[in-house]
Amino acid sequence: MLKIAIQKSGRLNEDSIKLLKECGIELNNGNKQLKASAFNFPIEVYFFRDDDIPQYVYDGVADIGIVGENVLLEKAKDIDLAYRLGFGKCRLSVAVPKSLSYNGIADLEGMKIATTYSVILQNYLNEKKINAEIHEISGSVEIAPGIGLADAICDLVSSGSTLFTNGLKEVEVILKSEAVIVSNKNLSAEKKAILEKLLMRIHSVKSAKNNKYIMLNAPNNQLKNIAALLPGSKSPTIVPLAEEGWSSVQSVVNENDFWEVIEKLKQFQAEGIVVMPIEKMVL
Ligand code: ATP
Ligand code: MG
Repeated sequence: MLKIAIQKSGRLNEDSIKLLKECGIELNNGNKQLKASAFNFPIEVYFFRDDDIPQYVYDGVADIGIVGENVLLEKAKDIDLAYRLGFGKCRLSVAVPKSLSYNGIADLEGMKIATTYSVILQNYLNEKKINAEIHEISGSVEIAPGIGLADAICDLVSSGSTLFTNGLKEVEVILKSEAVIVSNKNLSAEKKAILEKLLMRIHSVKSAKNNKYIMLNAPNNQLKNIAALLPGSKSPTIVPLAEEGWSSVQSVVNENDFWEVIEKLKQFQAEGIVVMPIEKMVL
């Protein structure tokens, strides 16, 4: 059995369970318990506070875990980053009161900065050769300047609305973070094999999410142009249509290039373009 640690409650809990589910892994009880097992995959799920996960993975209490990269770097345990999951995206930023004029990082010199990420912040300040006082607190960092506890803060931001409502402005981005799979460095061969299987499934789910299946009709004299736009996994599937001089083209298109590709396809006289979600994509 591979033991995986996920967040008990909080921002990463739901997406972590959803990811396992999309990988065909059904858990036998919810996260009210400390532990769950799967019916159909050799995995055991432990629910912990996210801050504890790097330590538990390092100690071998869990073999792997899902945490924000920010937590991985802050805890600085000797464990591996096995895979970037693409959810839980946020950034760790320095923010100062809106009213303060800020002209660059040198303005942080001598400031008192409140944070729960003292390790990452200290490394950053060292790198930038800035002397500032780090005031470590465990929560509600964003209120620190308002109550006179600090001049600035360093905290996680996604939309920025929390900063805004607390009269703060983001001035430096220290780290861009997302949820990652971390792994103990000394997994047995059996556990490594299970992890490989799991990562293959995760990769299939993630690839499917980033891609769409596309079908269209095109005049034969444009097939070369269209095939160049739609590489597919090898090349697009091209099937002649009953109507003379036309073919049906089927391929996969990446979400990031989607609209650009569609516009070009139209220029190359593509018609009847149908786009469908892909559930799994095994590469
Ligand atoms: P726990 O009780 O497990 O210690 P927590 O309160 O420390 O939970 P959450 O707020 O649930 O943590 O956030 C978990 C992770 O979600 C963060 O470490 C970060 O990687 C990610 N995250 C994504 N967006 C945000 C955001 N806007 N603010 C905070 N964390 C975010
Ligand atoms: Mg936490």
